[in-house]
Amino acid sequence: MKNTPARFMRIAAAALALALAVTLTRERAGAYVPPISILRIGMYYGGNTLTSANLQNVDGSGSGFEFGYFDQATREFISIGAVTYETRITMMRDANMYYKSESGSSGVYVQEKVGDVVVGCFHVQLPGSFGDFNSADAVARQYNGGFVKYDNGVFYACAGDYTTRAGAEDALASLGAGGSVTSGTQYTIAVAITGTGRVIFEFDCGTSHALGVRPLASGAEKPMTWFKGLYYYGAFQYYRPSGEDLRVINFVSVEDYLKGLLPAEMSNTWPIEALKAQAVTARTYAMGRLGAHGSNGFDMCTTDHCQVYQGSRYANETTDRAVDETAGQYITYNGEICETYYASSDGGATEDVENVWAQPLPHLRGVIDPYEADVASRVSGYNWTVKYSPSELTARMRGRGYNCGTIVSLTVTQYTKNGNAYSVTMKDDNGRSWTFKKDDVRTTLGVNSIRLTIGGGTQPGAVEAFSGRVYANSGTAAQELEMSGLYAVGGDGETQALPPETLYAINGSGETVEVGASTVGSVKTESSADGKIDGKFTISGTGKGHNVGMSQWGAYAMAQRGMTYLDIIHFYYTGVEIG
Ligand SMILES: [Zn+2]
Repeated sequence: MKNTPARFMRIAAAALALALAVTLTRERAGAYVPPISILRIGMYYGGNTLTSANLQNVDGSGSGFEFGYFDQATREFISIGAVTYETRITMMRDANMYYKSESGSSGVYVQEKVGDVVVGCFHVQLPGSFGDFNSADAVARQYNGGFVKYDNGVFYACAGDYTTRAGAEDALASLGAGGSVTSGTQYTIAVAITGTGRVIFEFDCGTSHALGVRPLASGAEKPMTWFKGLYYYGAFQYYRPSGEDLRVINFVSVEDYLKGLLPAEMSNTWPIEALKAQAVTARTYAMGRLGAHGSNGFDMCTTDHCQVYQGSRYANETTDRAVDETAGQYITYNGEICETYYASSDGGATEDVENVWAQPLPHLRGVIDPYEADVASRVSGYNWTVKYSPSELTARMRGRGYNCGTIVSLTVTQYTKNGNAYSVTMKDDNGRSWTFKKDDVRTTLGVNSIRLTIGGGTQPGAVEAFSGRVYANSGTAAQELEMSGLYAVGGDGETQALPPETLYAINGSGETVEVGASTVGSVKTESSADGKIDGKFTISGTGKGHNVGMSQWGAYAMAQRGMTYLDIIHFYYTGVEIG
């Protein structure tokens, strides 16, 4: 079938959305006040810790670093007065660490002997202790390789680092200044000048504080810092509570975080209104993710498990402006911060959240998306097909723990009113069956979205949705309209009542077709009974993502049509307020 009911519906809804306008009045609630202004972004943790982690001031932006820790409640950096004017430093565990140069980067320190440049773990600790950094530093400076160690609130002056205890004891004797030979604990972090064996600072506060490092600004601008080929705003935390390698966390203000996020989640070439919608959405989403990785000591990771973040490397004037022009704006519903899920594309319709995950939320209602199709041709993989032979699907299910016979049929058993797959059922050759619902449809089948059909056919719910639900777009929001009392403006300027049984839309071939109640139920006309086409289970669909909340490509399309970020947010999140 060339022109599916689903397609009619999208075209018709798009036409209506443009033709009609409604005025909405909204009560303005008090602006949301976030509980914190600094986010903790986990960069290296768990099984992905680092033996060493370098930092380098971005030229003209920073001129050295200060050391301290972070207040656990406010997350503010608390300086302990220790500073270095070295612009390239590396944090590492307090072991014998050999420098390994790497082309195109600052190099790393490793425990294998890979060269002669080494940071030793045995130190000469000079007599006495100090209440402040400068007093300890004044003593340490009198010795070759002198540095200050901060140990649970007390400063010590040290002289040199050695790879053996005997070497350090020889040095202790020849210095003749007294003191003792020390080495670190499982918590100690040494800081060296990158590329050298020169220690400049050590930090050990057990499990009470983790080391914080903040760049010193060289001018009025906020300093930025290179780390592993990307640059970042904010400060960094290093921690190794169980003697492991370094966990690295970026402590960054919400607004600076967003400046890094926008070009990673979208692109710095996208329309400003789409970027602004993403800024407000991501800012709001972040508040719902505070402590999401709390057991690892941070809020959000840098992948799409939370939100994609690559420092500020790809930020430009447009993405920064999108953040600045929406600064401090959050999405709320009845005064409460919203869970603003979003995904790459919805394939034509988003979905009520309870049809994908567990709990219903009033602002996460599925909408028919008449915009995204504008840009479908430029989204790679927008239309997708996945095929499984019976033996492939059987193996897949067994691999997922199902003790099934050969799968003989795969069908969609229920669609939502928006035409997304709600449940699919598989049957095996022993007559047993399994039904998968909601997001399990996507994961079980290994496909990109729940906007799909199996064995051909069309998405039925879309027609039903059209007959019962029509949306108009005002300057600020999409609103569902009653089907009675609709009017359309004809080409001659005449306004006419628009009962549903005489609605017409233009299809993709340029033909005018009737779209009325009579088409409801003309569903899955091409579906094969068992889901197979030419012997293979054939799953076809559109879009990529979980179908809940904003479509990023839909936002792009709406911005291209001249709509604002407020239009975009109100379209994808039902009944929300922005401020
Ligand atoms: Zn995460």
